[in-house]
Amino acid sequence: MERRRLIYLDNNATTPCDPRVVDTMVPYFYEKHGNAASRSHQFGWEAEDAVDYAREQIAKLLNVEDKEIIFTSGATESNNLALKGVFEMYAKKGNHIITAETEHKAILDTCKHLEKAGAEITYLKVQEDGLVNLAELEAAIKPSTILVSLMWANNETGVIQPMREIAQLCEKHGVLFHSDATQAVGKIPTHPREIGVHLMSFTAHKMYGPKGVGALYVSRKNPRVKVTAQMDGGGHERGMRSGTLNVPGIVGFGKAAEIAMHEMAQDAERVSKLRDKLEHTLTQMEETKVNGNINSRMPHVSNISFKHVEGEGLMMTFNQNIAVSSGSACTSASLEPSYVLVSMGLGDDLAHSSIRFSLGRFTTEEEVDQAIELVRNGVNHMRELSPIWEMYKEGVDLTKIEWTAH
Ligand SMILES: *Cc1c(COP(=O)(O)O)cnc(C)c1O
Repeated sequence: MERRRLIYLDNNATTPCDPRVVDTMVPYFYEKHGNAASRSHQFGWEAEDAVDYAREQIAKLLNVEDKEIIFTSGATESNNLALKGVFEMYAKKGNHIITAETEHKAILDTCKHLEKAGAEITYLKVQEDGLVNLAELEAAIKPSTILVSLMWANNETGVIQPMREIAQLCEKHGVLFHSDATQAVGKIPTHPREIGVHLMSFTAHKMYGPKGVGALYVSRKNPRVKVTAQMDGGGHERGMRSGTLNVPGIVGFGKAAEIAMHEMAQDAERVSKLRDKLEHTLTQMEETKVNGNINSRMPHVSNISFKHVEGEGLMMTFNQNIAVSSGSACTSASLEPSYVLVSMGLGDDLAHSSIRFSLGRFTTEEEVDQAIELVRNGVNHMRELSPIWEMYKEGVDLTKIEWTAH
C-alpha cells in the first residue's frame, strides 16, 4: 500500500532545508573543504571568504555589522553563551537576571545552572495572552540587575513580545537586553540595533537552513557588549567562541538569510492566509480556543485547544498523516502539560488538549485543506467516544463533579 505524504505542520520544531540552501552548501563538502582558520593556503582562504560572505548575508538580514555576528552550533549554544557570558563578564555590576516562565528550555535550564553559580533569577509570569506585563518587568529591575532575557516570539504559541517597549525599559535602567529570537529571525523583521536588543540568539534550522549552526548577535557599539567565552580553544570568533567553524553549515545559513531577506514578506503573507484558513475553520467547531494574543503573533503559527479532547490521543487519530505538536511534553514516563500554556493560565486539561500547528514556506493549500479534514474528523471521533463530552452535551457542570478513584 502506498503511504500518503505526511503533512508537515511542525515547522517550529525545525524547518526543512531550502533546496537552494543545500545547493550552495554542497561544494563546501567536496572541493572547497578547507578550514577557515588555515591562513597559509588556498583552501583556507576560500573557506574564510565563504564564512565572511555568509556573515555579511546574515548581518544584512539583521541590519547590523558583520563583526557583531558570532557563529555557534545553534540557538541553545547562543543562549548559553549570552546568559553565562554576560553573567561572568558583568559579575562586578550585579548578579540579577530577569526572564519569563514561557522561555525555551535553553534559557530556563541555563538560568537554573546560573542560580547554582550564584545568580539571582526572576522568572516573570505572563498574562493570559502570553505577553509579559511591562509594569511587572520594570518593577523587577533593581540595582543588581545586569540582564533582561526575553524571547522575540514564542515557539509554542507564536506570541510576539513588545520588543521595543521592553528595550526602552532596559535602556532607561541601564540593563542589557538579550532576546532568543530563534522563532522570529527570517520570518518577520528582526533588527536588534533599531529595536534596542544588545544580544540576540538564532539558529539556521528554524529558517530553512541546516541543523547544527546558529549565531549570537553581540552589539559592538552603544553599548559595546562583551561575553566571556564558554568554550576555550583557538580563539575563533573574536575570542568568544573557539572551535573550527562549520563552513558548509555557515554557507547554508548565509544563503538561508539571503533568501529570507528577499522572500520574507511574501512568505508571511501567503502562509498567514493559510494559517487563518486553518484556524478559522477549526475554531468553528464547538469548544475550541486559540491560545495566545492573535494580534501580536507570528504569521505561521496557530495553537488551538480542543476542549475535552486529549491532544496526544487526537494525534493518534491522524494515523501519521499530519505532523504537529501537542501541548503535552513527554518527559520521562509521564505526559506533562506544556509549561508555556500553564503559565498563560490554562488548566492542565486545556493545555493537554492543545495542538500547535506551525506552517512553513513549503506548506501548500491542499495540505492545509487535508489537515483541516483530518483534525475535524479526529476531534469529532474523540468526542463521540468521550463520556465527558457526553456529560458536557447533557449540560452537566463538569467543574462540580467530584471525581473519585473508584
Ligand atoms: C528551537 C529553539 C531553540 C533551540 O535551537 P537549537 O538551534 O536547536 O539549539 C531555542 N529557542 C527557541 C525559541 C527555539 O524555538
